Amino acid sequence: MKLTEIDLHKELKKYFGFNKFKGLQEDVVSSIISGNNTFVIMPTGGGKSLCYQLPALVLDGVAIVVSPLIALMKNQVDAIRSLSSEAGIAHVLNSSLTKTEVNQVKKDITSGLTKLLYVAPESLTKEEYVTFLKGVPLSFVAIDEAHCISEWGHDFRPEYRNLRAIIQQLGDVPVIGLTATATPKVQEDILKNLDMTDANTFKASFNRPNLYYEIRPKTKNVESDIIRFIRQHKGKSGVIYCLSRKKVEEIAQVLQVNGISAVPYHAGLDAKTRARHQDMFLMEDVDVVVATIAFGMGIDKPDVRFVIHHDIPKSLESYYQETGRAGRDGGEGHCLAYYSYKDIEKLEKFMSGKPVAEQEIGFALLQEVVAYAETSMSRRKFLLHYFGEEFDEENGEGADMDDNVRNPKKKIEAKDQVVTLLEVVRDTNQLYKSKEIIFTLIGKINAVIKAHKTDAQKYFGKGKDFDEKYWMALIRQVLVEGYLSKDIETYGVLKLPQKGIDFIKNPVSFLMSEDHDYNETDEETTVTASKSSGVADEVLMGMLRDLRKKVAKKLGVPPFVV
Ligand code: ADP
Ligand code: MG
Repeated sequence: MKLTEIDLHKELKKYFGFNKFKGLQEDVVSSIISGNNTFVIMPTGGGKSLCYQLPALVLDGVAIVVSPLIALMKNQVDAIRSLSSEAGIAHVLNSSLTKTEVNQVKKDITSGLTKLLYVAPESLTKEEYVTFLKGVPLSFVAIDEAHCISEWGHDFRPEYRNLRAIIQQLGDVPVIGLTATATPKVQEDILKNLDMTDANTFKASFNRPNLYYEIRPKTKNVESDIIRFIRQHKGKSGVIYCLSRKKVEEIAQVLQVNGISAVPYHAGLDAKTRARHQDMFLMEDVDVVVATIAFGMGIDKPDVRFVIHHDIPKSLESYYQETGRAGRDGGEGHCLAYYSYKDIEKLEKFMSGKPVAEQEIGFALLQEVVAYAETSMSRRKFLLHYFGEEFDEENGEGADMDDNVRNPKKKIEAKDQVVTLLEVVRDTNQLYKSKEIIFTLIGKINAVIKAHKTDAQKYFGKGKDFDEKYWMALIRQVLVEGYLSKDIETYGVLKLPQKGIDFIKNPVSFLMSEDHDYNETDEETTVTASKSSGVADEVLMGMLRDLRKKVAKKLGVPPFVV
């Protein structure tokens, strides 16, 4: 069928019962039905599935959908089946199927009944399946969670790298890539690796105007601070993310003994306990889930009112995904993260065991987290810039929804400093990262700059009236304004785009504010993880255990082993 012959709204109503398309859906659907390679970037919950499901249902042939998680595929297949009277309309093909089941799938495909076939990337490498699929008329191949193809994404899966070669064997079919990861580098990787640089690209805004972003320094009082925050949000649902299972258990305990209904959630708990805790949260039997990142995949509780990061995550993608679980219904969503540079060092140490390439990527992503946490500019603007999106900090939606905008630091005119900064980048041939540029400006001895026989010498020490922190803050703000850009491929080398060249020629006022200084944060300690082993601690631990048992009993959950 041709696009002109299809009434998309009628099909939407018929299959999904919806009256309207959401966001860019209609344009995406049209692009796919017209047979184009299509690239869809929409935040989680944006409605990406429908973008390929509707075309699959109306087009001739079978659509192959590659998805990384079996559980997600099952959900999707169930959802599609519930829309149709034919169970065979959608299938999953994976290694857990019996011979009989595989034959049924093949039969339904051959008879033309099946419109959507979900496969895991590793199944698609199976010779038997590929041979079978070669003989089947296909409408398109959709790659869901396409960021898995990129090492710069938050969930790199090497199997995704084989997809292009397999798709090629399947013949000349359109390819659809879908992701909620919006960084320019990941997008570029997807388009290149799937060989679809000609794709129609549809990118939705990642702005979540109802989310309030806040960073607080992480001190030894972090736990009482969290308790106070939750008490101010009494009866509301919230998630607290911690990096380790141990910390999850500790915080859940501390909350429980303080009369806050909370349950832990992490991969170390057995599946039944996890499912029960998740249900308790969804059914509002408890207010708070304390969790590792294991919690959240597929969680669709619309009225999560706060997301707290006890530990700062390892990338801004993760941060965005995790905070994104707040305020799905459009109502209040407070995103509070505790930050201390010590946590960054811990993450770095954790990464130092990894292969070098992975480490470098990890460090580069972490530096963005540091910049986000320390900046005093609009957090929303910073975050959206990271996702390749411009944000109008005066009039954009949600412009006043962060701590920095509500409590602005004094702005200082920095026009001349920006010019100097841009000139140094230019005259060192755009070869250096922030650190080297700053060392040049403040005149700190630096082998790289010394070795550099260019005009840069004349800038050596030219910015010494300001300190390292000042220049770092300025660079971050200049980057977000687009007068400098950062080459992520080389882990952060600064480049001078046209906008920067124009600034040098025609400088305009540039108001900057210095970054937050979180250096004064103390080492964190917790009540339950007290280091000394005096009698008082033993007594305290005993009291905690008893209290936990009581709380657990009241909640109807078994107490956890201390
Ligand atoms: P994503 O994959 O982008 O995270 P999903 O495809 O899972 O998002 O869709 C998120 C939710 O939006 C689902 O509950 C879905 O039913 C709903 N949805 C999708 N399209 C529409 C629409 N046109 N109208 C109303 N709800 C929609
Ligand atoms: Mg999805």
